Amino acid sequence: MRLSKKNRTNPNYFPYVLFSEQGFIHLLIFNKTNIDMKKLSVFLSCLFFVSTTALAFQNTEVDYNAVYKIKDEGLNNSQVMDIAWNLTDRIGPRLTGSSGLKNAYDWTSKEMKEWGLTNVKVEAWGEFGPGWDVKKSYLAMTAPYYQAIIGIPKAWTPGTNGLLSAEVVYVNIQNESDLAKYKGQLAGKVVMLPTTVEATTTFEADARRFTDEQLEDMTSARVSNGNSEFSANRVSDFRRSANLRNAAYQLFKDEGAAMVLATRRGGQGTFFTSNGARRDPDALPEMEIAPEHYNRMVRLAIKGEPVMVEADTKTEFQTKDLQGYNVLAEIEGTDPSLKDEVVMLGAHMDSWFAGTGATDNAAGSAVMMEVMRILKESNTPLKRTVRIALWSGEEQGLYGSRNYVQNTFMKNGAPNKAHEKFSAYYNMDNGTGAVRGIYLQSNEAVRPLFQEWFTAFEDMGANTVTIRNTGGTDHQAFDGIGLPGFQFIQDPIDYNTRTHHSNMDVFERLQAADLRKNAVIIATMVMQTANMDQKMPRKPKVFESGLNTNR
Ligand SMILES: [Zn+2]
Repeated sequence: MRLSKKNRTNPNYFPYVLFSEQGFIHLLIFNKTNIDMKKLSVFLSCLFFVSTTALAFQNTEVDYNAVYKIKDEGLNNSQVMDIAWNLTDRIGPRLTGSSGLKNAYDWTSKEMKEWGLTNVKVEAWGEFGPGWDVKKSYLAMTAPYYQAIIGIPKAWTPGTNGLLSAEVVYVNIQNESDLAKYKGQLAGKVVMLPTTVEATTTFEADARRFTDEQLEDMTSARVSNGNSEFSANRVSDFRRSANLRNAAYQLFKDEGAAMVLATRRGGQGTFFTSNGARRDPDALPEMEIAPEHYNRMVRLAIKGEPVMVEADTKTEFQTKDLQGYNVLAEIEGTDPSLKDEVVMLGAHMDSWFAGTGATDNAAGSAVMMEVMRILKESNTPLKRTVRIALWSGEEQGLYGSRNYVQNTFMKNGAPNKAHEKFSAYYNMDNGTGAVRGIYLQSNEAVRPLFQEWFTAFEDMGANTVTIRNTGGTDHQAFDGIGLPGFQFIQDPIDYNTRTHHSNMDVFERLQAADLRKNAVIIATMVMQTANMDQKMPRKPKVFESGLNTNR
């Protein structure tokens, strides 16, 4: 039973709000001038007994003793920045299949073993394909004068095979008929595609936090109508330009071009990389470069100034081990009847490679590891088993998590025993920003739980619970097979303006205070979930129309 704090203004009325298990709200208002107070007190005592019994059964209230210990360990002895430093500065970029990610598997599993976690393993999820590393990257403009250029090989492209010095040809291909005019002109040349990136001056700050109004909008949001923002026109535009790019690439290859240069969104020294090329060692070497450096060469070429570049890039394909892996570790539950049930938390550890993948997603990986360390170190009581997963292949399509849930919770397209024994999964992959709340992922039944648990973090600015979905990361793998999977609302900071898949996604962009708080909040969510009497409520009907693996 919870006494509502609102409606207390009239002293003659005792309003009681009772939340029943079915979610019905009973509002009883007693006017004390008209009733026998003795009978009322007996009645209220009975109500109190019934409802505390119900609450004890649900066991969803915040365990403030445990929260105190979690806060103490997480705020006073935090290691989250040390973990993040190891993943970024020390290990470096962690592209799936690269030697950097392999080093991260080794270090994280070793570290978690040292913390005393159990069942620590680097587990194959299936075949990813050849791995790839950048061994050398040099590009400069040498005429009309010398200029070092900010750029990097496009993922999974081969290198230049030594130093290349060549003239730049600006190729203005707007539609297929433009291709013919470049026949016979591209052999040995460095080809530049028409730029569409304007690197304008920005008058707004890179970084921001959510305002109270924005959070309030999220709280009051309704379930979306499911209309996709991708109109048919946009899809056909997208197809048309993809086809044109492919045709242009084929022309460059057939004509014997030496290298392809491209630019992407960015500015002020930052550039955002693409999703890479086909993993083909016989492809043309390609580089992606900062827009201002790219645009300058395009302007020079258009005005008829001869532009020369030098390039020397070396990349290495690795075909010895084609498997992709996730790193897993556990704290075993202590309740004899609940310890075979599982609460999971995770983040993807793979990254792109122009920076060190600090906000995407060393931040999430470090926080989730820190959550495990806090829970272990503070001896937080956990009835269910808690398992961390550090995924790979997220950037290429949530491969690590999607394969894991299929391998672990499904058999022949149907849920298995482990599916039944699963409670909930928590994910962090929205950059470095502070947790401000959680997305319900349309699972309305869990709203009262999260609202209750987040009361412990109002002073940290985290108490927004929104029905909205959020996509693009690993909780969707769980959601897609009918298991509760959640991702936190985080302040955007400079994720979209500066870091997300950019060459400047580096250690400096991590917000230490935010990451410490996030670990404390997530550790509490995990602890509460592990200690509920029931598993996390699920959304209904996911299997009725067959398994939706695309969610
Ligand atoms: Zn990403």
